[in-house]
Amino acid sequence: HGAGTGVAMDGSVRLEEVVMRFGDFTAIDKTTLDIGSGEFFSFLGPSGCGKTTLLNMISGFLTPSEGQVLIGGEPMAGVPVNQRPTAMIFQNLALFPLMTVSENIEFGLEVRGIDKRSRREASEKLLALVALEGSGPKQISELSGGQKQRVAIARALAVEPRVLLLDEPLSALDLKLRQHMRAELKAIQRKTGITFIYITHDQGEALTMSDRVAVMSAGRIQQVADPETLYRSPATGFVAAFVGENNRLQTTLIERQGERVRLDGGPLGELAGRVAASSPLESGDRAALYIRPEHLRPVDESAAGPVLVATLEAVHFEGAWMVLEARLNASGELLRVQLGHEISRQYADVLVAGRRMLFGYNVEDAVV
Ligand code: ATP
Repeated sequence: HGAGTGVAMDGSVRLEEVVMRFGDFTAIDKTTLDIGSGEFFSFLGPSGCGKTTLLNMISGFLTPSEGQVLIGGEPMAGVPVNQRPTAMIFQNLALFPLMTVSENIEFGLEVRGIDKRSRREASEKLLALVALEGSGPKQISELSGGQKQRVAIARALAVEPRVLLLDEPLSALDLKLRQHMRAELKAIQRKTGITFIYITHDQGEALTMSDRVAVMSAGRIQQVADPETLYRSPATGFVAAFVGENNRLQTTLIERQGERVRLDGGPLGELAGRVAASSPLESGDRAALYIRPEHLRPVDESAAGPVLVATLEAVHFEGAWMVLEARLNASGELLRVQLGHEISRQYADVLVAGRRMLFGYNVEDAVV
């Protein structure tokens, strides 16, 4: 047993038709999922959707009501928490406040009867990995929030897990530090090759760090994909609304041709968008059309393609871009439009509250 910096063994995780019920409440509906060895995988979803429950089934704190969990291809039924090849980092870190940094990191190794010299060697390597060289003798109380975070990571890695489970570990940090720690976590994951399974309700975290993300809602996985696919091709309305900012327009489907749909745009003509191949929507159905603020642009009357007619209510400067708030004339819904400074300058003389404006978009960017 050395430091946790070597090549990780098979850290794949398979959930096979797992179900978790608490009494007659189903917290996790039948779910099958494969997480690859060495993957940075996140579960993303609102509070109460079942993220912690899934993580607890992997760690062994909970036994599935049905189905099974396999780690490295081995069924985990009956394997207790401390004998699984997993380690966990909690939101509150759970460091031992009266021990030094090294003592914290070496704790798991001491419990396993590893001798002092090997323990010290391991903790030195881990301190280097998390950029805390020389901090071993410090007291936990002397550390900043970010440094404590790194000690927690080093302590979890000391026992050489094949899978590291992280339960919203950054949520207690301030914004700057959180963004910095995202990059650090990602780098540590790459260096160690360990499977990271991360749960968060913060889409920014999930999108920036993960190889793949499972978006969850009410005990079900809505979509599993890499961040870009989630953003560009949300499989469900829930994913479209939850990942990234989106305008949501209520409309009715006029006609569907494969993945293209024509939609009722009110008195101002037709709208268009695309649907997921798996979507059951048909002509006459009510449907929500999702268009991201950055996919809308001002156009004039002669523009080809679908056009939204709106009255400008407000223009906000948001640093890297401008955000327009405009009220759709047809439905009264509020539209947010994000414009780069270049294009804002072009339209400077019409970006005035009360103005009637037309906004166009590419049909591929509008998801139903
Ligand atoms: P959060 O981000 O708030 O932690 P979560 O997505 O992790 O939320 P879970 O903690 O997994 O959600 O909870 C999922 C659902 O299961 C919730 O409705 C919760 O109330 C319920 N639940 C969780 N644990 C238990 C339990 N031991 N007994 C009964 N219900 C439970």
